[in-house]
Amino acid sequence: MYSFNNIVNGQALDISDRFDVMNPSTLETAGTAPLASVADLDAAVAAAEAAFPAWAALSDSERQTYCNQVADKIEEHHEELATILTTEQGKPMGGLGSMFEIGGAIAWTRYNASLEVPVEVLQDGEAGRIELHRKPIGVVGSITPWNWPVLIAIWHIIPAIRTGNTLVCKPSPFTPLATLRLIELMNEVLPAGVVNGITGDNDVGAAISAHDNIGKVVFTGSTPTGQKIMGSAADTLKRLTLELGGNDAGIILDDVDPKEIAPALFWGAFINNGQTCAALKRLYVPDSLYDAVCEELRQFASTVKMGDGFAEGMELGPIQNRMQFDKVNRLVRESVASGGQVLCGGPVDDDNTLFFPITLVAAASGDDPLVQEEQFGPALPIIRYSDVEDALRQANDNPNGLGGSVWTNDEARFRDIAGRMECGSVWRNKHGAIQPDAPFGGVKCSGVGVEFGQEGLLANTNIQVVYL
Ligand code: NAD
Repeated sequence: MYSFNNIVNGQALDISDRFDVMNPSTLETAGTAPLASVADLDAAVAAAEAAFPAWAALSDSERQTYCNQVADKIEEHHEELATILTTEQGKPMGGLGSMFEIGGAIAWTRYNASLEVPVEVLQDGEAGRIELHRKPIGVVGSITPWNWPVLIAIWHIIPAIRTGNTLVCKPSPFTPLATLRLIELMNEVLPAGVVNGITGDNDVGAAISAHDNIGKVVFTGSTPTGQKIMGSAADTLKRLTLELGGNDAGIILDDVDPKEIAPALFWGAFINNGQTCAALKRLYVPDSLYDAVCEELRQFASTVKMGDGFAEGMELGPIQNRMQFDKVNRLVRESVASGGQVLCGGPVDDDNTLFFPITLVAAASGDDPLVQEEQFGPALPIIRYSDVEDALRQANDNPNGLGGSVWTNDEARFRDIAGRMECGSVWRNKHGAIQPDAPFGGVKCSGVGVEFGQEGLLANTNIQVVYL
C-alpha cells in the first residue's frame, strides 16, 4: 500500500483525512492520498508565493542546472516511479507503458532545461533601443488528468519553473500517487516552495482556477472542465493553457497498403488503451480499401496482449476507472444500436472488471455516437467513404480539433488534405507522435495555447517591452 503526503514548502503537510486509490487491474486499494481542503491549497499557494522572488531572481543558467538535477532524480528513480504508475494507472510496465512514460518525463525535462529564454532586440538605432524581455508570471496552478499523469505533470511543471515561476500541482484523484512521489523527489533538489503538490477532490481544482494569488493555470483534461476553468479564471484574468479533449480523425487515401499501415494505425488508436488525448478516434477509409483495412486491423488486434500491467509481455492494461469504462461501454452499445457492426471486442456485461476488449466497429454512419463523441478508450469506429472531400468534411464536422492524420504515399495529396484539416497537429502515416521540441495544442474546443518547444516554454511568461 502506497501512502504519500502532500508537499508544501518542501515539507510533508500534515493531513489526516485521506482517500483510497484503486489498482484498476485488481480493483484492490493500491494506496491512499491526502484529501486536502481549500485551506490547505491556500497554504500551498502562500508557500509558492514566498518562494517566488528568490526563484525568479536566479539566472537562467542556475534554473537550467536545477532542471537537470530534477531529470537526474527522475532517472535514479525511473523504475520506482514506473511501478507506482502501473499500480495506480494500470498501464503495463513495458512497451508504450510506464517505463516509457517516465522515460518521456526525463526527456521533456532535459529538453526544457536546454532551452534559452532570450532577450529580443526589436529596435537598435538612432530612434533608440527597444528590448523584449520575458518575465515569469508568478504562481502557476497545474491540474492534471489520469491518463499520462507523470508525463503531463512534467509538461506543466518544468516549463513553468524553468522560466522562473513557482507552482502548485493538483493531480487527478484517480492517479495521485506517482505524482506525489515525483514532487517529493523534486523537493530533494529544488528550493522549498518552488514546486508544491496538493491532492484532493475536484473542489480543490475549482479553487485553483479561481484563486486570487495564482497568475496562470495550466490544465489538461476534459473540455467541460476546461470550460469551467476558463469561466472561473475570468475574475482574475489568469493566463491559461488548456489542453482539452480530442476526437481525432484519420483519413486513409486509396494508395496505401493496408497490411503495411495496420501496426501504425493500431497503435495510433490504441496507445494507452485509447486513453490518450491525441489518439486516433475516428478512422475514415475509402470503399476500395474498406474490407482490407478492417481485416488487417482485426488481425493485428488479435495479436496484442492485454492484462495486468505487471505480467510479462503485456501491451495494454485495463481502463483506468469505472466512469470511463461505463462511457466506452455505453458508446459501443449505442453504436451497435445505431447499426454499427462489431468486428472484434464489443460491449461488456461484467461489472467486476475494468478490462475492456480491443473493439473495432464498422460504423454505419457518421452520426454514430461512437464517432461523434470522444470515447477515450479501446474502441475505434471505422467509417466508409466514397468521396475524399466528404471524408474531410466529416472529419472537420466536430467541435474538437486536437490532432489528425492522412495515410498516403503521395506527399502532394497529404499536403492538400492535411492543410485543410481543422486541428493543431497533423501526421502522415502515423498518429499522435509528439516530441518535446514541437509545439502541441488544440484548436476549436480542444484547447487554448500550446505546450512544448520554445512557444510552450514562453507561454509561462509575460512580455515586458523595455524602451531604452
Ligand atoms: P477531467 O476534466 O475530468 O479532470 C482533469 C482534472 O481536473 C482532474 O485533476 C480533476 O480533479 C480536475 N477537475 C475536475 N473538476 C474541476 C473543476 N471544476 N475545476 C478545476 N479542476 C477540476 O479529465 P480526465 O477525465 O481526468 O481526463 C480525460 C480528458 O483529458 C479527456 O477528455 C482527454 O482527451 C483530455 N486530455 C487532453 C490532453 C491534451 O493534451 N489535449 C491530454 C490528456 C488528456
